[in-house]
Amino acid sequence: MSPTRSATVIGGGPAGLIAAELLAGAGITVTVYDHKPSVGRKFVLAGRSGMNITNSEPMSSFVTNYGPAAPRLQAALDGFGPEDLRAWCAGLGESTYVGSSGRVFPASFRATPLLRAWLRRLGDLGVRFVNRARWLGWDADEVHRFAGADGHEFTVASDVTVFALGGASWPRVGSDGGWVTEFRRAGISVSPLRPANVGVRVAWSTDFVDRYEGEPLKNVSITARSADGDHTVRGDPVVTRSGLEGGPIYALSVPIRESMDLNGMCELAFDLHPDQSVDRLIERLARRRPKDSTTTWLRRSIGLHPVMIGLLREATGNELPTDLDRLGALVKHVTIRAVATMPIDRAISTAGGVMFSELDASLMLLRRPGTFVAGEMLDWEAPTGGYLLQASFSTGVAAARGAIAYLQS
Ligand SMILES: Cc1cc2nc3c(=O)[nH]c(=O)nc-3n(C[C@H](O)[C@H](O)[C@H](O)COP(=O)(O)OP(=O)(O)OC[C@H]3O[C@@H](n4cnc5c(N)ncnc54)[C@H](O)[C@@H]3O)c2cc1C
Repeated sequence: MSPTRSATVIGGGPAGLIAAELLAGAGITVTVYDHKPSVGRKFVLAGRSGMNITNSEPMSSFVTNYGPAAPRLQAALDGFGPEDLRAWCAGLGESTYVGSSGRVFPASFRATPLLRAWLRRLGDLGVRFVNRARWLGWDADEVHRFAGADGHEFTVASDVTVFALGGASWPRVGSDGGWVTEFRRAGISVSPLRPANVGVRVAWSTDFVDRYEGEPLKNVSITARSADGDHTVRGDPVVTRSGLEGGPIYALSVPIRESMDLNGMCELAFDLHPDQSVDRLIERLARRRPKDSTTTWLRRSIGLHPVMIGLLREATGNELPTDLDRLGALVKHVTIRAVATMPIDRAISTAGGVMFSELDASLMLLRRPGTFVAGEMLDWEAPTGGYLLQASFSTGVAAARGAIAYLQS
């Protein structure tokens, strides 16, 4: 590739950095612009909470985690899949291992060593970084406008551009969705950015949260109802002062959001004993010792934790049924009303983004030849478990390969 070819990568998260690596590896002069003082801040944040970099699930089911966007991501995932990502980590000196849930973790459990080695490699490839540079939009001549650290504006032109500006969750680490207005102004369709993998608000009583804030509801199953039916997941949601957080709640993000849109709330039905039939529970409940308080009886007879008993009381206004059939049925189906999702700045990830109808198969904007889009700013969403980073890396690679092919054409 002629050394005079240049690429602008806007956004220094995983999608932008992997694109920069491939472009620089192909002999292109690459500059990465990011408005934060350093790149990869969300990647580092992900590393603080036991980062899953990808997942070992077979590709046939792996791809289904992206819902309606799956067919549009398949080529990118085939082009740079979970095994490629693990090999890439190993190449940077960070081995990975598969946890019991199938999630893939970096051996150090953190992102910092990986990022440090990665930035060294990018430096060796000649990638230039301009931090504290905020992309503002395109000017009348279609070149990029940036605001620098001291507020002065400057413009940048190059042969190709890869946008990787992320979504809008956790804005303090960089991605704030500010690009949406500019993209729409340029006639590019962007579906609204919405919280994904996010907690819900529940109007708990003060008594309940004072007692149980921070407590997990262990091994329960939760069902959320949406227009296309019931969605049930299992796990350990955690009671917070304002509602519920945790893996199973995040996994229900899509039906919860749909229900909120339709009804202004979402009813969550908990089965506090998913491995036991209602008949068996009733049988066990019948063994009450005369001196047992209600709490002791529910704990001894069917093993309910205090927070679960609290939830039963909360859901019934402290009117627990005394009738065994009704009580057994309640343990299998106790409903809580979620009144909102937590705001997008508290979400793990973002749904919505640049619509795939705006892009060709190489992730190039149809309206702007030579400009590619990657990562979470594209219109896909996925559960936690490594799927978010995998798609960010895969689309970053696909966009870079598209840009290289474009320059060669
Ligand atoms: C708490 C937390 C834990 C997570 N854990 C995991 C996990 O374990 N596994 C997993 O798969 N995923 C996880 N994720 C999600 C994952 O981190 C993201 O999906 C991924 O970082 C998205 O990569 P990206 O490159 O598309 O965007 P980002 O990483 O968001 O990077 C976008 C970059 O663009 C820059 N930028 C934004 N706007 C501008 C602008 N106008 N001008 C210049 N620069 C700009 C930002 O500063 C940022 O550096 C987690 C997320 C959070 C918040």
